[in-house]
Amino acid sequence: MSLEALRREVGAVNDLLCASGILVWDSRTMMPPGGVESRGHQIATLTEAARERLLSSMTRKALDAAEAEVQGRPEDSAERREVAAVREAIEFHARIPADLIRRKAELRPKANVTWIEARKKNDFSIFAPHLSETIDLQRAYADAIGYASHPYDALLSLYEPGESVTSIRGFFDSLRPALRSIRTAAEARGAVRTDFMGRAFPAEAQRRFGERIAERFGYDLGRGRLDFTVHPFEISFTRSDVRITMCRAETFEPPAIFGAFHEVGHGLYEQNVDPAYTRTALASDLKQLYAVGGTSFGAHESQSRLWENHVGRSRPFWDLHFADLRQAFAPSLDDVDAEAFHRAVTRVRPGLIRTDADELNYDLHIMLRVEIEADLIGGSLDVGDIPEAWNAAMTRDLGLTPPGDADGCLQDIHWSSGMFGSFCTYMIGNVMSAQLFETAMTENALADAFGRGDYGPLHDWLKSHVWQHGRRFTRDEVLARATGRGLDVEPYIGHLTARYAEA
Ligand code: ZN
Repeated sequence: MSLEALRREVGAVNDLLCASGILVWDSRTMMPPGGVESRGHQIATLTEAARERLLSSMTRKALDAAEAEVQGRPEDSAERREVAAVREAIEFHARIPADLIRRKAELRPKANVTWIEARKKNDFSIFAPHLSETIDLQRAYADAIGYASHPYDALLSLYEPGESVTSIRGFFDSLRPALRSIRTAAEARGAVRTDFMGRAFPAEAQRRFGERIAERFGYDLGRGRLDFTVHPFEISFTRSDVRITMCRAETFEPPAIFGAFHEVGHGLYEQNVDPAYTRTALASDLKQLYAVGGTSFGAHESQSRLWENHVGRSRPFWDLHFADLRQAFAPSLDDVDAEAFHRAVTRVRPGLIRTDADELNYDLHIMLRVEIEADLIGGSLDVGDIPEAWNAAMTRDLGLTPPGDADGCLQDIHWSSGMFGSFCTYMIGNVMSAQLFETAMTENALADAFGRGDYGPLHDWLKSHVWQHGRRFTRDEVLARATGRGLDVEPYIGHLTARYAEA
């Protein structure tokens, strides 16, 4: 009965977070620009109500009783993990001063507005004072959360529990040389035809095509929908309502098509969490106060990257489905074949902008940001020195020097939103996607079906090994159960080599 009482309280917290999530979805798809300010208040009020409910004496009392009730169960049983997640979240919030939460919330919209202005005027100095303030608050936040050796560790733990500056640097070192040499080999490949990428790609046909891809991958449109937005995202309000978005592109540039593949991958994760976990701590991030069923940001990204890159960017996929694409957008691709299209969407060329980067250069963008973030939070880099540090790293790692701040250190929204610690999860997702995909493909029947364009067995494998577990297991537990080991860079290096250095 005690666990039931705890579930009632956490269920209400999840309801508030899902309601806030719907307001976020609306603000990014439908809301007129005038709604910005009042929407900010509405979301803040719901989030605060969720936090208060979580920290209420009622929840604490139910938690004490639930702990006693589940005590005899195995440590990794769903019930024990569920109760432990609530305890951890309550202890986490108790350490964060209310004044700090308020100051962070107040600063975010101001920092966002100055970031937009600075980017428009191509002038980092406009954003610098608000960024300094943001970093001071992030440091105070890290101190309140607590850490063993580096303040950035505390921030990393919010997005990718278990990682630290030391572990992430080791992870980067294990990949950097391979990425560089594969990129050199890839750039030596012949010229690729890209003239057709700029041709007409009408929005409505694009959305219909996106829905067909989604259904082909097993996304349930009865519990989801696909809409247009500027920066694509996925968001869920329990597994019964999982929404995805795509950008309204007018050409075949990769962000349009592959952005849709990507968000479908996120959506599949959320739609397939065990129904028994709905409205519980195993489908809510109670620290970040966000209703999500995926176990870490990196694990979530592994699912989007798997469907985007291992399925959607594979040659077999386009051999089977290019005819559909050509027909859907006739006559734009009438003089193109599957091979030419595949070559165009796997071309490698360094660029200044992370979100436009190809599979190989993307990771180099990520490493650069993580290094700068860790140095800023650790205090070894001053805000005023960011443009110089950024440009030097871009020149060293990508061989390009940004002509101005807008295409350099001002390009990402993360810092203006107070998001420090999340960038590494994109790269962890890439590595984890390759490890899971490689293991899944060792099952012959699954690989045969994949080759025929039947994605059902892959869908079912991921559902049983990853998705259904929600937040019950950690990222490394999911990996160990599915592949027999923790995070391993070798399958990713193998995948990139096969696609870019040997093709
Ligand atoms: Zn993603």
